[in-house]
Amino acid sequence: MSTTFESGAPDHVTFELIQFHPLLHDDYILTERPEGYERAPVGQDIVIHDGPTGDKALCATPGCWHSTVGKQPEGWRCWECERVEKRRARVHRRWGQTASGSSAW
Ligand SMILES: [Zn+2]
Repeated sequence: MSTTFESGAPDHVTFELIQFHPLLHDDYILTERPEGYERAPVGQDIVIHDGPTGDKALCATPGCWHSTVGKQPEGWRCWECERVEKRRARVHRRWGQTASGSSAW
């Protein structure tokens, strides 16, 4: 008589590995922590990853809280404030041209 482990019915092939059964293979279950695997003392924090270290630059625009990782030159602006600044400069240029040339009117 074959046991359910040897039948191979679900897989249609015989198992290459022995299926672990907690009652049949209780000799292999450890009841004590093996040597060299001591638990970390309580209170000792395990730091897996600190996150990016180093400087953090805040956007120079007042009221903007965007920041980036790393050292940036003084007066660094985020992409959003940079876009607003470019748009503002473009509008100023256009108004300056219309005021001096007055050909647009
Ligand atoms: Zn900004």
